[in-house]
Amino acid sequence: MRIKADPEVCIGSGMCALTVPDLFDQSDDDGTVVVLRPEPPAERIAAVRGAVGRCPSRALQLLDV
Ligand code: SF4
Repeated sequence: MRIKADPEVCIGSGMCALTVPDLFDQSDDDGTVVVLRPEPPAERIAAVRGAVGRCPSRALQLLDV
C-alpha cells in the first residue's frame, strides 16, 4: 500500500498531521501535507484510511500497489 498526497489540492488543514503524526507532517513553507512514510506498515493502514477519510479536500489517497 502506498500513500499518495496531492499538494495542489491540500488546503493545509492539518487534520492528517494532527491525527496520524507518525505518518504525516506539514510543510514549514505553506502548511501543505508532507508524507513521512509513503509505504506505511500494515499495522498503520487503518490509521491511514482514517486520515484519508477526514481530509477535507480529498488530497489523500491510499493506493493498493
Ligand atoms: S488533512 Fe488533507 S487538506 Fe489537511 S493537511 Fe492533510 S492532506 Fe492537507
